[in-house]
Amino acid sequence: MTHETETMESAAIKLMAQAHIVNTYGDRSLAIVRGEGATLWDADGHEYLDFFAGIAVASLGHCHPAVTRALQEQAATLLHVSNLYYTEPQALLAKMLCENSFAQKWFFCNSGAEAIEAAIKLARRYWVQQKTPKPTIISAEHSFHGRTLGALKATGQPKYQAGFEPMIEGFKYVPYDDIPALQKALTPDVGAVLLEPLQGEGGVRVPSPNYLREARRACDTMGVLLILDEVQTGMGRTGKLFAYEHTGITPDIITLAKALGNGVPIGAMGCTDKVASGFSVGSHASTFGGNPLSTAAALAVVTTMVETGLPQQAAATGEYFLSKLRALKAKHKIIADVRGIGLMLGVELTTPAGPAIGRMLTAGVICGPAGPNVIRFVPPLIVTRQQVDRVVATLDAALQEA
Ligand code: PLP
Repeated sequence: MTHETETMESAAIKLMAQAHIVNTYGDRSLAIVRGEGATLWDADGHEYLDFFAGIAVASLGHCHPAVTRALQEQAATLLHVSNLYYTEPQALLAKMLCENSFAQKWFFCNSGAEAIEAAIKLARRYWVQQKTPKPTIISAEHSFHGRTLGALKATGQPKYQAGFEPMIEGFKYVPYDDIPALQKALTPDVGAVLLEPLQGEGGVRVPSPNYLREARRACDTMGVLLILDEVQTGMGRTGKLFAYEHTGITPDIITLAKALGNGVPIGAMGCTDKVASGFSVGSHASTFGGNPLSTAAALAVVTTMVETGLPQQAAATGEYFLSKLRALKAKHKIIADVRGIGLMLGVELTTPAGPAIGRMLTAGVICGPAGPNVIRFVPPLIVTRQQVDRVVATLDAALQEA
């Protein structure tokens, strides 16, 4: 099926963008004009099966009717008001998130990086308020936490930091999934440990089953806060609403973004009441953070996810997908590893992943990389087994050509 459009063709959009937009994204293969469910259409009418979801964003599928309705109604009522005033969508979203997580208080912002900034600031200020300043934050090697200067410093991948020095101080890194290294790094100046429950951008790395539990114990022993970055793993992606639910522990602080708005920019930082006391009036703020439009969208997202049991559906589809990918591994020597949880899956190749991702795109399937050798699948959580079968068959063909 093709979609006729009266808008510009791909080549014209590409030329105009290249002339006028700072080139931080390189040559972007497609100009996308429309989406519905797990399907995208480009400006020339070609159809694609989207197994990347805007990098783990469109978890309900593109243009989900509940989100569209919430946006239309809110846009016709009140788009924006400053945080000097209360709004109903913001209050309802915070209540809904509290009812469905460990967190007792929320701060809203506009992106994942901003949620990380809020978490870093809260952790530092909490210990200052406790009269025991402990400014150092530990994060993991190969982690990814965003591009603002604080989040960039927290990101344990020097390649992202190069050229942006001087970096902010007070961070150190430990190998991921290494409890003795974490214990050793927990010196008295450390106030918080920041971890992804499984690493996304760093290569879809799944830690050992006890890692987060033992990290929690190590933090408790030393009186250190545990921050979980669920920007990518949150909102049903791993088969639970939040990935920490797989572990039996809760963090002190959590960060969300990506799928929270299903495409509407919103970030959030949640925490316990105790830790929330680290912030006081005026200590943090955002003009757009938690505005009526984004919180109305996010409220529709969370409500739909909870009411339809979408995380459970993602768990079942993810298991099916993983079993199919494992079968493919038995067939292709080029596959070094297959891993992931729920619908956050990675296929590590023995060679760079780019060519296979390109061949899949030509065959009408969108997926993306996670590090140099890993093909990452983070589809909308609504994908069907038939769609999974098509993606696996496309990957099979793409690897045969390798
Ligand atoms: N944290 C994690 C785990 C992420 O995967 C990302 C983005 O990929 C971020 C933070 C940064 O989010 P944003 O791009 O919305 O700033």
